[in-house]
This record gives sequence, structure tokens and C-alpha cells, in this order.
Amino acid sequence: MNHADQLPCDLIVRNAAIVSRNGLTTGDVAVRGGRIHEVGTPVGGDALEELDATGLHLFPGVIDMHVHFNDPGRTHWEGWATGSTAAAVGGTTTVAEMPLNASPPTLDAGAFDAKATAAIGASWVDFALWGGLTPVNLDSMGELARRGVVGFKAFMCNSGIDDFLAADPTTLREGMLRAAALGLPVAVHAEDESITDHLTAIARFSGATSIQAYLDSRPPEAELAAIARAIELADESGCELYVVHISTSAGVKLVREAAARGVNVHAETCPHYLLFSEEDLADQGALLKCSPPLRTAREREALGTMARNGQVDVLASDHSPSPPEMKSHEDFFQIWGGIAGCQSLLSASLTVVADRPAASGYSQLANMLAGNPAGILRQTHKGDIRAGMDADMVLVDLSETYTVAGSDLRYRHPVSPYVGFPLRGRPVRTFLRGIAIAQDGNVIGRPQGRLIMPARASGTRN
Ligand code: ZN
Repeated sequence: MNHADQLPCDLIVRNAAIVSRNGLTTGDVAVRGGRIHEVGTPVGGDALEELDATGLHLFPGVIDMHVHFNDPGRTHWEGWATGSTAAAVGGTTTVAEMPLNASPPTLDAGAFDAKATAAIGASWVDFALWGGLTPVNLDSMGELARRGVVGFKAFMCNSGIDDFLAADPTTLREGMLRAAALGLPVAVHAEDESITDHLTAIARFSGATSIQAYLDSRPPEAELAAIARAIELADESGCELYVVHISTSAGVKLVREAAARGVNVHAETCPHYLLFSEEDLADQGALLKCSPPLRTAREREALGTMARNGQVDVLASDHSPSPPEMKSHEDFFQIWGGIAGCQSLLSASLTVVADRPAASGYSQLANMLAGNPAGILRQTHKGDIRAGMDADMVLVDLSETYTVAGSDLRYRHPVSPYVGFPLRGRPVRTFLRGIAIAQDGNVIGRPQGRLIMPARASGTRN
């Protein structure tokens, strides 16, 4: 491709250990017009900018399938500018933003427009928007699809936010039928409301306020019952199902068994379930409160083994920040359940697989962080390092283990359980469509994230 008559490329990254879907190779990546022009060993020709990446690994830009940026409406919790800055610094180039915790929640076209407007010009990374699936907006799913949502998110239990109602079984069934007709996936927060509500009511009746009481109110069985029901409905409706933040190995097993018999279902988990356990929750308290909650150390190991074996489809952050005051209360049930972690997603995931042999482990990890998410989001030009793809990439120094300091965090509130935690693999430079957007912990240039939509846009929808 190095014909003398061709224009020089915009950028050539040289001598990188390139992590792609197919494995690990050392070589060069040439970028032209925002796309990967050529991957070679070496790439010939000239470029306007060349970068020697000797000793560094080049990963596909991370596609974080699960963030809450709370903008518009709750920007005192986070916001597109701060949330996407943290993502970019951490090696993420695309986020899929959840329909709740912003106000209004993304339940109709107007709310979609309000969120897209808030993001454009503020977001440092490309962004996709999930729509909501609740009892009150089934009739708006079509207009949300036409606007470009990448799927619909439903809660099978109380969402913790008054303006986002849980989907009862009838709503979920009807929503899945409609999503299937629209050709889009449904994502579920899988905890069975009848179990969690009942156990929570018992705990509250007896005046319990402790961490243990909270854990007891959201047992693994609540997750397993909900996953099983969601799989049944997906099977029945033909809807693609995406089970978010699975906290148990048995939950992932349910997904794998269903997938093996032909159900179109994917399993997501988050690094916090793989790096922390109930014991850490007992120590750190509020910072590690989330739902479903952290599990036992034994469960953490079992789930980690499944992730390392490629039985988990997606690793996402479930970045769900709040103002610090919402993370402080004597009654553990009153504390906001959500962990701030989008900046640490890549490094935390690398930490999980650090003990794997490099080639397969990193390639598999890249699939969980980018390749598989791109597939679920219907992004044909993202998620891998090969010719023709968007040049969304991150250079990582895998020789480095670093400890996150509060001052390194780019969230609105520098509060995260990862502060003080040793992480393996420091992101040194992040490229979005070939342009460096972050370097050594800070964003550079200007925010130019774009709204991305599922590839089979309009046409196939009604
Ligand atoms: Zn979430």
C-alpha cells in the first residue's frame, strides 16, 4: 500500500504489540482519515506523525457498554464532560449510556434529544444511548429506535430512581416482542423484585441497617431467578438479551447454557465483582455498595475464572457515581448503590487477567472490552485493530503497576473504591478516530465525540 503516488498517512504507530481479535503481533498501524489504513510488519511510506511505541501494547479503544453520566438533570452527580474525560483518560473511546439517572430518563424521543444535545460538544468519546423499557413507555420504543438507541434497558427490580419504573413480567414480555421487531437487544438488570422487595421489607421491619442486612436482602438466588425468567422470555420472543452486571458464576452459567441451546443472550460483568468481595465491602462500606451486591471471595474467584476463560461476553464499568453526601449514611440501605469506575475499566480488567499467558489472554480481553460490545451495538467499524476500522485505539504500558490516587480521577467527584488499589497496565495515550484525545492522565485537544447508532439504521425499522 506504499505506492509513491499515495498521500502520506496521518499517523503511523510503530513497533507496538498489537492486540487484535486474532491475537498479538508486533508491528505498525497506519491511520488515514480517521480509519485504520494498514496494519503491517512494518508499514512502509510516510506519515504526518510517527510514534514509536516500542514496549507498549496497542489495544482497540474500549467500548464501555454500561455508564451512567446523569446528564442532563443530575450533572451534580457526574456529567458528559467529566464522565467522558475519565473514560478517555482510562482508554475508553466509546460509551453506551444508560437511560436512567439522567433527568428526564430516556423514555421517549424528546428525552433522547435532550441527552444527545447534552453530550454533543461535551463528550470526549463516541457515545451510544440506551433507551428505557418501562411500563409507561412501551409505545415510545419505536420512536426511540428511529432516533438511534442501541437497545432498551429494563429493571426486573426497583431501580432506585423514582422516575424509572421496574418492568413487571408482562411489560418485559411485551417490550421484548417490540424490541425483537425493531431488531434491537433488551438489557436487563436481573434481580427478582418479589425476592428483593420481600427481603428488604423484612429487614426494614426489624430495623436492620447494617451492611450484612443489605447483603442478605439481595441474595444470589434473586439474580438467578431473574436471569432464568429473562432468558425464558427472550427465548419465547426471539429478542436478543443482554444481562448486565452479573455477580455470580451460576448466573453466567445460565447465560452460557441458554446460548448453547440457541438463545441470543450475552453476559456482562464488571471488574468490581472480580476484584472486590463482601469482605472488602465490610471494610470499605459505602464506596463498594452496588446492586447486585459484591459476593463472597469464593464467588469472586469463580466468576473471575469464567471471565478469564472467555465465558463472559462483556466487561463493563457500570459507572454509577453520586455526590459524596449520598455515599454517607448510618443506615446502609439509605446509601446510594453505585460504583464510580469508568476510568479504571481497562486497567482493572487487565489486572484481572494479569496471570494469563499474554497472547490469548489479551486478545480475549480485547474481545470482552471492545469486539463483543461492538457486535452488540451493531458497530461494524469499531472494536478491533484491522484495516478499515475506526482508528479507536489505546496504548498501554503493561509493565507498569500503578496505584490510583484521588487526584488522578477525572470524575466530577474523585470518589472511587479504586483509589489506593494497585492496577496493572497504565493507559498512556488514547486515540479516537486517529486523533489523540488523552495522554498520561489528561485529555488533549477538544471534545469531539459523536453519537453512534446501530448499523442497520432506519430502513429495517418502522
Ligand atoms: Zn447500571
